[in-house]
Amino acid sequence: MKTIESLGDLRGKRVLVRSDFNVPLKDGVITDDGRIRAALPTLKTLLAAGAKVVVMAHLGRPKGEVNPDFSLAPVAKRLGELVEAPVTLAEDVTGPSAKAVVEALGEGEIALLENVRFDARETSKVDEERAALAAEFAALGDAFVSDGFGVVHRKQASVYDIAKLVPAAAGLLVLKEIESLRKATENPERPYGVVLGGSKVSDKLGVIANLLTKADMLFIGGGMVYTFLAAKGYSVGTSLLEQDQIETVKGYIAEAAERGVDLVLPTDIVVAPTFAADAPATVVSADAIPDDQMGLDIGPASRELFASKIAACKTVAWNGPMGVFEFPTFAEGTKAVAKALSEGGMFSVIGGGDSAAAVRLLGFDEATFSHISTGGGASLELLEGKVLPGIAVLED
Ligand code: ADP
Ligand code: MG
Repeated sequence: MKTIESLGDLRGKRVLVRSDFNVPLKDGVITDDGRIRAALPTLKTLLAAGAKVVVMAHLGRPKGEVNPDFSLAPVAKRLGELVEAPVTLAEDVTGPSAKAVVEALGEGEIALLENVRFDARETSKVDEERAALAAEFAALGDAFVSDGFGVVHRKQASVYDIAKLVPAAAGLLVLKEIESLRKATENPERPYGVVLGGSKVSDKLGVIANLLTKADMLFIGGGMVYTFLAAKGYSVGTSLLEQDQIETVKGYIAEAAERGVDLVLPTDIVVAPTFAADAPATVVSADAIPDDQMGLDIGPASRELFASKIAACKTVAWNGPMGVFEFPTFAEGTKAVAKALSEGGMFSVIGGGDSAAAVRLLGFDEATFSHISTGGGASLELLEGKVLPGIAVLED
């Protein structure tokens, strides 16, 4: 992996940095700045080296169109506070404003381009379109540092194509993420448990086939549970359900049994009639979810079951909250898993934007986990043992 040192003396050079600033916002206010803070070591290193730092980042899914709701303005402000220097935000991605802002940068100064996903070419499936945008990025920089771990699994212009046009290197965050995640995937100390939850069910079901060949225990919580319960023939009321994945999940259940993987499903569920913070919650058996109720958390018996089995693991990777932790009534399952990891003394890796936000929101000390990844999809793909395009392109 090429490192920042391989780029040589950076004084006065324009260095493009891809960061992951895809932070949660509520009414224009950043509710968790973890990803911005995670980008600081690389940015401060480059600034201290006298580089002219030009940061590329995305926010949300503006679908290739300029949309002020997805402006990086709140990020520029917060980043400025954290680096203790003004961060100029260009008004466009590679247009006249970006050119002028980069032109005006002095040594050890930093600027941010506007949301790269305002340009449809960023995420285009057509190689030539991405390459054209990457060429415009390349005109703004003499070197490229890839530090947006959350996007290294994406073949996108500011992640992948740019690395082919100017001297490129991995940033400190990307290096640290890879090192920690490899520790969990290449010869993990056993028993090795993987805890999966959250709401991106169809995305995450796909990784299970692969994880069944690697993990000793697989815990399922969050919105994913209901497709498993349905595969077992239970009715799941109005819970999240991937109807078209039920057959696939039946296959996973059979394969887990064949391979001797302990597939741990909740035995009880916290249900409510509506998806709301103040919805009246009841605990029911996992095979008795009423037709007019939805599962929003794992129940108390399941929390104990999960916690005791997790405690026996020497390595645990966790991706996805166990319930709707944003509502205190439905945060207990997520809290129980976080507590088991925090107190377990095992090598623990947490991936997924919402999972990382959850442990902070629920008041856990980040230092009690071995590694909190800034990447959801990227960390899952590394756990699966996949080659990530944004990393492969940085290999020597
Ligand atoms: P991550 O960002 O950690 O990868 P996801 O984005 O997949 O996780 O999912 C996080 C979201 O999943 C949270 O907002 C949480 O409220 C939601 N969630 C968890 N359990 C359920 C459930 N049973 N029903 C609906 N949403 C759920
Ligand atoms: Mg998420």
